Amino acid sequence: MIFPMFSEMMRERVCAGRAGGGLSQVLWQSFLNLIFPLHCVICNEALEPDNKTFLCTRCFRKIRFLREPFCEKCGRPNSIGLCTRCKTKPPNYTTARAAAIYEGVVRGCIHKFKYYRRAYLGESLGRLMVENLMEFPLACGCDLIVSVPLYRGRERERGFNQAFLLAKVIGKFLNMKVSGRNLVRIGAGKAQTELSAKERFRNVSGIFGVKDGAEFRGRSILLIDDVFTTGSTADECSRVLIEAGAGDVHILTVARGE
Ligand SMILES: [Zn+2]
Ligand SMILES: [Zn+2]
Repeated sequence: MIFPMFSEMMRERVCAGRAGGGLSQVLWQSFLNLIFPLHCVICNEALEPDNKTFLCTRCFRKIRFLREPFCEKCGRPNSIGLCTRCKTKPPNYTTARAAAIYEGVVRGCIHKFKYYRRAYLGESLGRLMVENLMEFPLACGCDLIVSVPLYRGRERERGFNQAFLLAKVIGKFLNMKVSGRNLVRIGAGKAQTELSAKERFRNVSGIFGVKDGAEFRGRSILLIDDVFTTGSTADECSRVLIEAGAGDVHILTVARGE
């Protein structure tokens, strides 16, 4: 299957640096579809030119969207009221929600988005998040979008911060301001994927900071990240934002663990 991969790579290269909306963007997309036909990012099946999810119907149907019952605070699936962890150690954020469960198709999309630099997938993952947000009335009252920062070295290596790209997509849809590089990562920390739940909380402690607290003071913040696993990163960012004066923090991610 060389052709779909080549088409995908060329698409990404030509798309780089082109964002925005309007007629010119629509024409540009149509042109791209003609030259580099769309294929499902998971199974490579050819897609209709107007497909905006980059997934075929069969793969899209496999996504497990997060549905009730879930913990009213952290969004943990299959919990009624508050889950055990939120009861024993309440997190700093007000609520955390995700569009889908982190597995299969969604895990594959996020993986391609992050590690294979398929930045255009940010648009379709961002849409999933916006649709989820509509069912999440508390977070609709937020007035500033902030993204979880990457360590500078890692961002340089990857070429972009996936959370910031998602935040920009959501900001565009909701017509909401997105904070720039104001919440910052001071330390690298180890890669969270290699650590246990307890180690993850210790690993992120003290690695975030705020440059200018005035932007966050009294604000209700929608904090964006790609995946919510133990919630340690989201919790530590919330602590720092609240310390800087934020009124409350709501978390929204593409996916979360079960
Ligand atoms: Zn597919
Ligand atoms: Zn919970």
